[in-house]
Formats: sequence, structure tokens, C-alpha cells
Amino acid sequence: MKSRKSVAVLAVAIAAALGVADAFAQPASAIDGHLAAAKAAAGFDFPGTLVRTCVAPQTAPGRDVAPAPAPNRATWITEPAKVFDNLYFVGTKVHSSWALTTSDGIILIDTLYEYASDEAIVGGLKKLGLDPAQVKYVIISHAHGDHVGGAKLMQERFGARIIMGGPDWDAVEKSVNQYPNGKPKRDIAATDGQKVTLGDATVTLVTTPGHTPGTLSMIFQVKDNGTPLTVAYNGGTAFNFVNDVPHFDTYINSQRKIAQAAAGANATIMMTNHSEFDNAVTRIKTLAARRPGEPHPYEMGRDGVARYFKVTEECAQVARLKLLQQASKP
Ligand SMILES: [Zn+2]
Repeated sequence: MKSRKSVAVLAVAIAAALGVADAFAQPASAIDGHLAAAKAAAGFDFPGTLVRTCVAPQTAPGRDVAPAPAPNRATWITEPAKVFDNLYFVGTKVHSSWALTTSDGIILIDTLYEYASDEAIVGGLKKLGLDPAQVKYVIISHAHGDHVGGAKLMQERFGARIIMGGPDWDAVEKSVNQYPNGKPKRDIAATDGQKVTLGDATVTLVTTPGHTPGTLSMIFQVKDNGTPLTVAYNGGTAFNFVNDVPHFDTYINSQRKIAQAAAGANATIMMTNHSEFDNAVTRIKTLAARRPGEPHPYEMGRDGVARYFKVTEECAQVARLKLLQQASKP
């Protein structure tokens, strides 16, 4: 394989010969530019997201195989917690599940791996004094095993309605091996802008295809000691999808779309479904030590929310340009 420098020199030589120096000289520096923008946006706030999307990104989708055996319980179990007046964490050390309480029941966002869902969600809600039978809606951000695992349980045991992107319902139905213990029955297929209202709360769904074709992001309100704050929830992050230019275009457009929706709704909190990306477990620990007058550890301001979506967009730009660069090599 030629060194990057000799390829660059060759490219410049060819470009000069063809009189299109800019078109050839652009990619390498454009990649560096996007990488620098991603690093600047991540700062000290989102290192996990930067690592997963810029530093060591996945490059292909997972296969349709049976779930791996459950890991040792000690690696994932963590205490459930009340995080806002009306939002409770019932996730694991790795994955998040959020319970939004309303005047007419609970909206649950994401359901972990199947192995964790009964203890962390059902057990977690009970520990917090909440009744799992009050879960009326379950919104699944996307149909990967680490978020859809407890959907069947919530549907069958408590009669909760399951909301998922249409293409992700299709993926669940098509899967041969991923659901050895059965699948959730197809229920509500989400539409862009759909408002899921329960009692005094509304979650607005924003379709953000990319991570999966049916990925759902969300906007909703929480209260911090009575003060309303807006959350932008990012439904899918890593690049474990077919890595080609059209897929990255879709992903980039979606990150811009949710960033715009977040800004429009004046969101000052970004949440997502892996602690790796939003430091959920660390923030919850910090919350326990919060003193009166201090901001909520999840409050990152409009700028922090915007920077999060900048990290994912810029890292997707890097991956996309690398694909174009590879394709242009003889
Ligand atoms: Zn996923």
C-alpha cells in the first residue's frame, strides 16, 4: 500500500496536470477539518461519543444472530433513581431506560437487553415506588437488542402499547435469530412529529433514520424542583449500519434535524440510551451530591446540546469523506 503522503503527492500532481487542484486537494484537509470540529464540540463533555464515532467507529451492521449470553449481573446492575420531578432512571450501568411519569400513567423510553429488563425496569420501578402496571406507552428508540429487549415483557405482562419506527418493526418481524424467546407483537408505528400524549405530558417524536432506518429521537419536558426544562433525546448514535455514502447522508441529515428540533424547543438537556454517550450513571451519582442552588447535573445548556449533535454530525462527515477518498483510489 502506498503511504498517505505519496498518494497525496500523486493526487496533487494529477490535479495540477488536470487543472483541478482544489477538487483533489480538498478531501484530506476536509477530513482533518471535520475531525477538529468534532473534537472541539466534544470537549470534556462527550468523550465517549467522540471515541465511538470518530476515534474507533464501527463500520458494519451487526448480524442477525441470537443474543449473547447474559453477562455477569455485577457488570450491569445499578440502583434506579429519581432524576427529575417526573423522570426516573431504571437502566443499567451501560444502557438507559427512562420512566416519564404523568398524571395518567407512565411513558417508558427504551427497555434494555432482555436479560436486564425484568430486574432493572420492573424491579426498579417498584423500588422507586412506581407501579409497572401504570406504564401505558413504551417508546423504543430503535430495534437493537440493547433497547428493545424488554418490549415483549411490557406488552404481555402489563398491556403497554409499544411505539417504534415502522422500518424497525419490519426489522423485528424479519429477524430469524435475534428473538429466541419471542418478539413483541407489532403495535404502533411512529410517524414524524407524532405527539405521544398521556395525561399532562407529551413526547414529540422526531424520526431520525441513520443508526437504523426507523430510529426515533424525541423532545419532551421534565421538571427540576418545579422548573420546566426541555430534553432532546437522541435515538441512535453509533455507525453500526451499512457504511456507504447514502447511509451517512441519511445519518447526517437526521442529526441536523434533531439538532434543529432541539434548538427550536429550547432544549438544555441531551439524553440518550447509553451512558457511554450522555454519562447518565455519572450524572446520577453527581445528582446525589447536588447542593441547593446548583444546576442539575444533566443541564448542559443550549450550547451543550448543540455540541452533542455536532460531534455525531462531524464524525459522520469524517467517515463519509473517508469512503469517498477510498472510492477515488485507483
Ligand atoms: Zn443500536
